[in-house]
Amino acid sequence: MIYLDNAATTKVFDCAIEAAEACMREHFYNPNATYGSGVSAKSRIERDRRTIADAVGADPSELVFTSCATESNNWVIGCARKRPNGNVVISAGEHSSVYELAIALRNRGIDVRIVPLTSSGSVDIEAFKRLTDKNTTLVSVIHVSNETGIVNPVKELVGITRKSAPNAIFHSDGVQGLLKAGEPISSLGVDLYSASAHKLGAPKGIGLLYIRRGINIQPFMYGGGQERGMRSGTQNTPFISAFAAAVGKFAELNDSVRISAIRNELAEIFTANDCEVIGCGKNSGYILSVCVPNVKAEILQNAVHDKGVVIGKGAACSGSKRGNRVLSAMGLSQKQIENCVRISLFSDTSRDDAVSAARIILDCAEAIRSGHVG
Ligand code: PLP
Repeated sequence: MIYLDNAATTKVFDCAIEAAEACMREHFYNPNATYGSGVSAKSRIERDRRTIADAVGADPSELVFTSCATESNNWVIGCARKRPNGNVVISAGEHSSVYELAIALRNRGIDVRIVPLTSSGSVDIEAFKRLTDKNTTLVSVIHVSNETGIVNPVKELVGITRKSAPNAIFHSDGVQGLLKAGEPISSLGVDLYSASAHKLGAPKGIGLLYIRRGINIQPFMYGGGQERGMRSGTQNTPFISAFAAAVGKFAELNDSVRISAIRNELAEIFTANDCEVIGCGKNSGYILSVCVPNVKAEILQNAVHDKGVVIGKGAACSGSKRGNRVLSAMGLSQKQIENCVRISLFSDTSRDDAVSAARIILDCAEAIRSGHVG
């Protein structure tokens, strides 16, 4: 199989599997127990937290482990409260774990403002300026789009927010951006940043929320007071170890430039074959969204799967929902959206595999159009 659906999830690095296994077999103690083995399990968490913090550009005290980025995003958006004249600003490009909760809050009477996207896929900065004001309490803008790989100018948006909405807390969903967009968290100036380990070669079920020093938000879960009282619940020590191992491996591979070159080569191949690359402008280099004319993405996805190639067709977690809210917000027609596939790369993607996959995708598209498939 040539696996090109890495924005949905990545294959777990061997070192991450080994780290999790060692933790489960040998260092399985409750990290909150006060005897020696528990204390040493706790110190392993702190060692792992430091490894991750060093790699992502944060202080260890700023990272809280969560069960996934959906949890991190829900935690942040769920902190929004109904205040007289208060408002919350999000972008139309948010992942559903931000967007759906924001809509639920709007239904409960909170003024939620949605900043449109430009046709290139990034947040419309002029509209952002208009929609944020002194009554804005929370802003949430995705760092890298999980649909197109487009990188939002988060640093610039933070700068605008500090002036126009000085009371607002700025959150960014960094699931597709962490370590992939070449911007350490501290360089962005954000207050809060969500991330998920399974997009970086670690298992599903572990994520984090970066909470900049000095920022006060309410705890997510109450109980035993783990994670400095911010997120109670016995820590997932095996997956925290795996997360740290994966981050270390990812940093060591340092292959973002190679991946980006593969993405650009694929973009050229598809464009030369009458397909349209969706979203222009700065891209993380890991995601390529392509509209393949006159071929339904679902049929194409299944056809290429039968030939040993795995690709996506928009966010996996919204796969059951009709349409694509983010691509619609970029102005794509329903017909174009039906023809869009998402190809996403990771460290284990080789250039030759990616190019062969592109040929298989184009051949399958041709077969479908000529009625030989589906
Ligand atoms: N945010 C973005 C941008 C994502 O791509 C995803 C997963 O695809 C999530 C949030 C949710 O992450 P998790 O699977 O860790 O809940």
